[in-house]
Amino acid sequence: MVDDDPALLQTISIVLREQGYDVATADNGQAMLESIEAREPELILLDVLMPQLDGFQLLERLKSDERYADLPVLMVSSLPAEEATVKTLGLGAADYIRKPFRVRELLARIQAQLRVRAELRSAKDTVLKREADLVRAREEAETRRTMVDILHEVTDELSPEEIYHVVARRVARALNTSHCSVVLARPDDKFGIVATAFEDPSVINYRIQLELYPEIRTALATQAPVLVEDLLVSPLYAEIRDKWAKQGTVVRIRSVIALPFSLDSAQVGVFFLRRTGEEPPFDKEDVEFASTVIRAAVSAIQRARMIETTKADNARLEVLARTDPLTQLLNRRVLIERLVQEVERARRYQNTIALLMIDLDHFKRVNDQYGHLVGDDVLRDVATILRNAVRAVDAVARYGGEEFVVVLPETAAGGAQAFAERLREKIEAHDFSAHPHGSFHVTCSIGMASYPGQHIESGEDLLARADEALYRAKADGRNRVRT
Ligand code: GH3
Ligand code: MG
Ligand code: MG
Repeated sequence: MVDDDPALLQTISIVLREQGYDVATADNGQAMLESIEAREPELILLDVLMPQLDGFQLLERLKSDERYADLPVLMVSSLPAEEATVKTLGLGAADYIRKPFRVRELLARIQAQLRVRAELRSAKDTVLKREADLVRAREEAETRRTMVDILHEVTDELSPEEIYHVVARRVARALNTSHCSVVLARPDDKFGIVATAFEDPSVINYRIQLELYPEIRTALATQAPVLVEDLLVSPLYAEIRDKWAKQGTVVRIRSVIALPFSLDSAQVGVFFLRRTGEEPPFDKEDVEFASTVIRAAVSAIQRARMIETTKADNARLEVLARTDPLTQLLNRRVLIERLVQEVERARRYQNTIALLMIDLDHFKRVNDQYGHLVGDDVLRDVATILRNAVRAVDAVARYGGEEFVVVLPETAAGGAQAFAERLREKIEAHDFSAHPHGSFHVTCSIGMASYPGQHIESGEDLLARADEALYRAKADGRNRVRT
């Protein structure tokens, strides 16, 4: 409360203190200005007419000071209401009370002003909090967007080097830093391998001496991020700074972050971010951001790899379950499945389908003469001849020991017979190797059946008729085709 009337100051102080207010008084404007900073008042009662600095001048000064712009000032004066009200309110006073005033009126006005101020404050806090929330939300969205971008790039089958490069590039861009590399190393290693360097793509598998990189060593040892805001003052760099001073080395890098990661037992190291003296130094938020991105990227990479491995395993098992291990042809089980499907299809579309059953002639003799291993080679070679002879739509299977079946969809009896004859000739003409005994020849007998045909309704019928035809081919002297 500022008033040049000491009696009024005293009475009002007593009344206000009784109401629980903490009151400071000043009998002139200068004294008020000197004490306001220390007292931090929530409201000022200001007399208008005072010697030297009057209430108007004081009010103007207060309102032009950013710190007090929101401070409610209640003007108190004996000036006629209209004149003073207009002027004081125009200058930013909160209210005007005419002297002489009643105490109850003064208290009511003070309370009203304090309530308004409290509301204003909380509104401001809310706005500030909203702004902070907004900034955080924006940052989170940014992190997420960066993540999504990384994951889009990483989902394809990439080698670890390519993945490192993608993540390093993304982190470097998001943090607006010129240097971001991936250094592979384990705790206590003397050397690290630069797996990728965003700033220089040619630096790959470059060896660095970890002695010169205390932040990398610390990050590896503690498995926690290391932030060096300024290497020229960081205690971590004390020894190296001495070395630089002795050698007259000038360093451009000023600020670094080392973030440990581990992809699998072979891929352990740090992401290494650096900024030069011309760039702003890294801070805790940068560490936070980079950690989030890298952590998410690493787990995405691990997930992607796990899925890839599982998929690859499943694919391998699937292939194993479907093929004959010696010849890689379809096995008997899959042949029957295919045959059922093909016959069904041929029936539906009124198509033809043919089946050849091929049996090597006197194969026992090959085994007896050259041994089982050579016999196996012959079976593999025959498989290759068959595979190379058929169309993509045909199916070739190993039906038994030295028996093969070829399914020829959309092929009529005549075409199938001609094809069987060519196959027989190819096998007969082939030089099978019986190292070290030189080469020898093998012949085969082929039985053919086709759908539609007499007594042929199913895949089983096709197999049975082809088998009968094969028996006839054998009986007729082998090395021939029969239907
Ligand atoms: P035929 O002209 O009457 O068909 O005479 P064959 O000797 O070929 O007939 P047979 O069915 O009596 O004998 C088949 C031989 O094929 C018996 C077996 O030792 C051999 N064989 C079957 N499976 C394999 C295999 O996986 N590897 C090798 N090396 N030989 C096999
Ligand atoms: Mg045979
Ligand atoms: Mg046989």
